[in-house]
This record gives sequence, structure tokens and C-alpha cells, in this order.
Amino acid sequence: MIRSTYPFFYKRYAYDNSTNLLHDLKNETPACNIDNIDKDLIEAYSSLNEGSLILDHPVYKKCPHCMDE
Ligand SMILES: [Zn+2]
Repeated sequence: MIRSTYPFFYKRYAYDNSTNLLHDLKNETPACNIDNIDKDLIEAYSSLNEGSLILDHPVYKKCPHCMDE
């Protein structure tokens, strides 16, 4: 579910700094537990190509629940 509020602001991807997991909010499942992540630990990104995501988190992990390929 795309959220309008802090820290998401309509962005599609949410990175959780406590687990190093990247979530796709468009495919979010209850197992992602997005609403239980400390909001101050979340960084939101509009796209996976956003340069800052790769620079900030070169070894991010894809959440197995919402980012299955
Ligand atoms: Zn997820």
C-alpha cells in the first residue's frame, strides 16, 4: 500500500535500516509488517534505479514477501 505520510510520501520502495530489507509497497503483504517498522529507520525511494539507494545501501536485501522475482 502506497502511503502519503512520513516517511513514505507516496514513494514505492521502503528500506528498513534495522533489517537491511527493501520492500515494494505496491506488493506489500502482512508479513512485511511495514506498519511496525520504526519510521525513523525507514528510507523511501521512488524507484530502484534511484542512484542514492545504491550509494547508500550497496548490499540491500530484497524482502522475500513483496519483492519475489
Ligand atoms: Zn516486504
